[in-house]
Amino acid sequence: MRRGPKLTDPVVFFTGLSQATILSDPVRGLRELAAHIFFSADSGYARKDVLAALAYLHTVDILGATALIAGMGQTANMNDSIPPDSRIYVSGHRGLVGSAICRRLAADGYQNVLTASRDQLDLRDQAAVSCWFAEQQPEYVIHVAGKVGGIEANRAYPAEFLYDNLMIHATVLQAAWRHKTKKLLYLGSSCIYPRDCPQPIKEEYLLTGPLEVTNEAYAIAKIAGLKSCQAYRRQYDCHFISAMPTNLYGPGDNFDLETSHVLPALIRKFHEAKLSGSEDVVVWGSGSPKREFLYVDDLANACVFLLNQYDDEQTINIGTGQDVTIGELAQQIGDIVYPTSRVVFDATKPDGTPRKLLDVGRLHALTWRHTTELEEGIRRTYQWFLENNGET
Ligand code: GDP
Repeated sequence: MRRGPKLTDPVVFFTGLSQATILSDPVRGLRELAAHIFFSADSGYARKDVLAALAYLHTVDILGATALIAGMGQTANMNDSIPPDSRIYVSGHRGLVGSAICRRLAADGYQNVLTASRDQLDLRDQAAVSCWFAEQQPEYVIHVAGKVGGIEANRAYPAEFLYDNLMIHATVLQAAWRHKTKKLLYLGSSCIYPRDCPQPIKEEYLLTGPLEVTNEAYAIAKIAGLKSCQAYRRQYDCHFISAMPTNLYGPGDNFDLETSHVLPALIRKFHEAKLSGSEDVVVWGSGSPKREFLYVDDLANACVFLLNQYDDEQTINIGTGQDVTIGELAQQIGDIVYPTSRVVFDATKPDGTPRKLLDVGRLHALTWRHTTELEEGIRRTYQWFLENNGET
């Protein structure tokens, strides 16, 4: 039951949701407004804007009251948030995730974001990493760097996936501890959960069964990094936290057909088929595996949110809580990029894990939710691809 004014402009303004979405799903509107208030508080938005949103919420029903309480709880943490002049190191800033996190930090007013390109700093080299930390003294670290790739790259280069990632995680965590970093956020990946674990995947399922063979090397290295965060917490009292993002996509993605993940690969395939006038678009495997996709700017929001608010040994899933089959994904991308095309499945290519949907209950309980739905995210990613000629 709603009373008072309708949910209109303030919610639209703060959440970016359309009015139609808010009116059809006021719970979501309010929840996202509460989450936004949370961000606003953390990122130095004008306090008056936060208070105006809270005052507005006061005028709506019981749902509003619930969101209000959640929002107020978060604003109470205002003083605990990371000061805007903090030195924050984002490792892997040129990649899909790192660049989105840098965009988010800049938008939130953080002025001292530290980065180092591969030429400047080889993260596999402990001495070099240690020197860099001694010189730069990062207070916070968002550790994103790592060697990543799709199903084919993982099959072709398992030794590199294992060595590079083991080394990169070991050097960064060790340096962060030695140089007294206040807090570090480490990103795992949904593909490090056991292949056949129950769905949706809860955080505690990690290491409860065998891994998917097509990305075992990568997963072993990522698990080592995640467990290192827990070990440093236990032994040295470090504020090292970890989060587990689902499959990501967005601007800055890798569109190389040999090494990319499915979503950018299909954008490229449909686009090139359209240019060449060929009707058929080849999609690997059977089309039946299911995947969850999160727009990378939503992940960046979640990372800044967690760095500000979360401090627990237990890793935390970041996703949308919704998945689609690869066949449905191909259909959706085809509708946007090249509607008259026809999908042809190539059964000689592997399917990989049948399904990996994250349980995002813990993250939702903290009031965080994604805001970019798959269709909108594909449109934005395709736009970026067109503007950048697929160069990454
Ligand atoms: P995964 O999530 O670790 O399995 O990695 P991918 O994103 O590479 O693959 C996800 C699913 O999409 C697998 O079942 C692939 O076989 C399927 N797929 C279909 N077409 C493609 C394609 O063109 N490239 C990639 N990378 N995967 C594809």
